[in-house]
This record gives sequence, C-alpha cells and structure tokens, in this order.
Amino acid sequence: MNKAFLIGAAVAVTMSLPIRASAAIKVITSTQDLAAIVAEIGGDKVSVESLARGYQDPHFVEAKPSFVFKLNKADLLVVVGRELEMGWLPPLITQSRNSKLQPGGSGYLDASQTARILDTPTGAITRAMGDVHPSGNPHYWLDPANGRRIAKAIQGKLSELSRGDSTYFSQRYADFDRRLAQAEARWTTALTPYKGTKVVTYHRSWSNFAEAFRLDVIGFVEPKPGVPPSPSHTLTLMHEMKRQGVKVILVEPYFDLKTPNAIARDTGAKVLVMPPSVGGVKQTTDYIRLFDYNADLLASTLKSATGR
Ligand SMILES: [Zn+2]
Repeated sequence: MNKAFLIGAAVAVTMSLPIRASAAIKVITSTQDLAAIVAEIGGDKVSVESLARGYQDPHFVEAKPSFVFKLNKADLLVVVGRELEMGWLPPLITQSRNSKLQPGGSGYLDASQTARILDTPTGAITRAMGDVHPSGNPHYWLDPANGRRIAKAIQGKLSELSRGDSTYFSQRYADFDRRLAQAEARWTTALTPYKGTKVVTYHRSWSNFAEAFRLDVIGFVEPKPGVPPSPSHTLTLMHEMKRQGVKVILVEPYFDLKTPNAIARDTGAKVLVMPPSVGGVKQTTDYIRLFDYNADLLASTLKSATGR
C-alpha cells in the first residue's frame, strides 16, 4: 500500500465520521448551483444535496421516488423559483409531507426573492402558450451579482435555522464574497475585449450572463422558451444572423445539436456548447469554477470567431 493511498484512506475515514451529524442542517436544493452556494456558506454545519443534476434541463427533471424521501428528511429546501421547477417539484413537496418545506414554511427558501430578475413579461403570458418563463427569467444565477445575493439570502436563512452558528455563516459569506469579487475581476478582464458581441443562444438561459458581461443576445433557436425550434423560426433567425454578422451560437449541453449545426452551416457561425450550471461538465465543480470555465471557453471561442 503506498503512502498516498493511506493518506487518502485516512481522509475518507475522517470525512465519514458523523462529527456534527445530529446538528448539521439537512439542506436539499433543486439545482446544483444552489447546492454549491449552500456549501460555500454552510460549510460543515450543513449537509447539502441537489435533486437535479447540472447536465439536466432544470425545467424538465424526471422526478424519482427517492426525491420524496430526501425532502421528507430535510430541514431546508432552497429553490430557484420563478416557475423554473414548476413542471416537476411542487407535487414532490406535497408528497414529502414535510410541513417545514411547504412554500411559505420556515424551511422553504425561494432564492429568486432577492435576485435581479430580467425578462419580466409586460403582457399576460401563461404557460399555456408554451412559454416556460412566465414569471421572468429564472436563469438569474448566471450573473455573479445574483450569486452574491443568493449567498446572502442563504446566510440569512441558515442563521435563522441555527442561531448559534450565525457568526460562522457570516464569516463564510464574507469569504465567499471576497473570492467572488476577485474572480469577477478575472472574468471581466477576459471578456471585456468582446463587449457588445452579438450572439444567438438556444434557450433564453443567458440573459443575466449577457448583461453582466456585455454580450448582445439577438435571438434564440427556440421560438419561445421551452418551445422546440420550428422551420419558419429557424429561417427567420438565420436571415437575421447573416444580416447582423452573428458568429457564435451558444447551446446548453442538454439540447439536440441538429438545428444549431444546420444554422451554423448556413450562416458560418460556430456552435459553442456552454454549461449554464455547476455539474454541467466535469470541470464546473462549484459556482466560481462554473464562471471560470465559461469565461475561458467563451473568450477563446470569440477570439477565434471574431479575430479580436
Ligand atoms: Zn428557461
């Protein structure tokens, strides 16, 4: 047995010891992005698990019976809100028979409450029209300023649930805030040369990201959020991309590449698969690494596509 293995085994044993198992706040989140931020703030005072995986479309997650069991045992449920989980989560919350986790309960946190929300509809839009963003854009975690707001809301909720640990949570928030600010400077530097670059995205996932990093999203492969591409919409989009000289199509990893590839062939644009969530690809293991990965990927793609 080599030394590295022994150290590894020792670490594994240490980590599995239930040091604070009875006191740890059991947190379930709908998405891995929220789980990553809960881990930043909660440290070893929480155990946290996400129901959806980062490589899944968060609007359409297959509900498993194990989700109900996990919700039943949880002290806190953190959701993205703005109807993102509307298609799968509400019945699971009901079935969990956990009164704390019902909307409005002491163990329910809607992270959108304090976030900056874009694309808020002005007219009457309902899900019946197929639009899965009837309450504004639910992909708001893709602006680091919203990541900070989510972290603050989580800090407040965890402190409420475990008052004795409030100093610990506030120190961890301060540390996350500091690291996030340093990272934001890095991402801004990487993407500043491409300020104002026109792009097309598959789903309307990147509104907040585009605002934060000054990209100009001029169209979407989907005719409406949640509605699959149609031939007539695709033709109009290709015409507009050529007119405006769009060089890049951003596609979330869970969409079929057939239409984006056809658009790319016709327009000369490049398809870039970019993960909108922690866990979307193996390198995006936490909230800051998600943006590190995307800023690098986008900057190098825009460099080769635009020659800037
Ligand atoms: Zn969406």
